Amino acid sequence: MNTATALNADLHCHSVHSDGVLAPAELARRAHGNGVRLWALTDHDEVAGVAEAATAAASLGMPFVPGVEISVTWAGRTVHIVGLRFDPANPVLTAGLAGIRVGRAERAAEIGRRLDARLGMSGCLEGALRYAMNPGLVSRTHFARFLVDQGRLPTMQSVFDQHLGQGKPANVPGRWAGLAEAVSWIIGAGGRAVVAHPGRYAYSQLEYGAFFDAFKEAGGEGLEVVTGSHRPAQFDEYAKVARHYGFLASRGSDFHSPRESRVDLGTLPPLPEDLTTVWYDWF
Ligand code: AMP
Ligand code: MN
Ligand code: MN
Ligand code: MN
Repeated sequence: MNTATALNADLHCHSVHSDGVLAPAELARRAHGNGVRLWALTDHDEVAGVAEAATAAASLGMPFVPGVEISVTWAGRTVHIVGLRFDPANPVLTAGLAGIRVGRAERAAEIGRRLDARLGMSGCLEGALRYAMNPGLVSRTHFARFLVDQGRLPTMQSVFDQHLGQGKPANVPGRWAGLAEAVSWIIGAGGRAVVAHPGRYAYSQLEYGAFFDAFKEAGGEGLEVVTGSHRPAQFDEYAKVARHYGFLASRGSDFHSPRESRVDLGTLPPLPEDLTTVWYDWF
C-alpha cells in the first residue's frame, strides 16, 4: 500500500475568514471527527484564520499546514492557486494578499450596485457585508447567501446562474494577482503552489496547456486531482495531467458550509496510488 496516498489529507477548505460559515476551530473538529489526519485551512486571499486553525489542530493531535487560496487572473479568466505549508507571517505574501483584498472591496461595491439595479432593490452590498465576518473579504458567496435568505432567489446556484456566474451581468471581474506573482509569493514564503480545481476553468485545450506550462515555469509544483469541485470522472482526467506534467497531486474537499457543500471534509476517495502526493516529503 502507498502510505502517502492512503493518508486522509484534506488540504482545501474555507472558514468565516473568507466565504465559509464555520470558525477555524469548528472546521478542525469537524475534519478530525471525519478522520482527517493532515489538514490545511485555505481561505480566499487571507491567512487570518491560520493561527486559530493551527492551535485547534494541535490540541486534537491532527497534523496541520498553513494554507491560502489566491485569486489570480490568467488569460482573462480567474483561476485559483492554493499555497501550502508557507510562513503565514511572510511580509511579501501578506502584503500581496492585502492588495487583492483592496481590489475585492472595490469590486464588491460594483457588484452591489449592479444587483440593486437588476433586482430593483437597495442595500445588496450592506446585506452581503452582514454575512461577511471579515469586511475586507466580501465574495460573491456572501451576496448569494444574502439574496437566498431574503427570499429573492431560491438557491445559491440560481443566484450564480442568473446574476453572478461567468458571463452574467453582475459578474464583476476582480483585480486579482498575476499567476507568476502569486506563485512567487507562496514559494518566497517557503511554501508549495498547487492549481486548485483545474477542471473548473473555461479554457480551451490550447489555453490549458499554456496555463500548465506557465504555472510550472513559475515554479508551481502541484495539482488538485481529487477535489470536491471535480466530478468523479475528472479525478482520472487530472491524474493523467499530473502524470504528464510531473505535478505533485493534492486532495481537498473545498468545504464551505454544512448546508451548502456537497462534499464534507475528509470524505473524498484517495488519490490514485501511483501519484506522488504534495505532502510526500512533509513527514
Ligand atoms: P469570488 O472569489 O468573490 O469570485 O467568489 C467565488 C466563490 O463563489 C467560490 O469560491 C465559491 O465558493 C462560490 N461559487 C462560485 N460559483 C458558485 C456556484 N455556481 N454556486 C455556489 N457557489 C459558487
Ligand atoms: Mn469560496
Ligand atoms: Mn476555488
Ligand atoms: Mn476554495
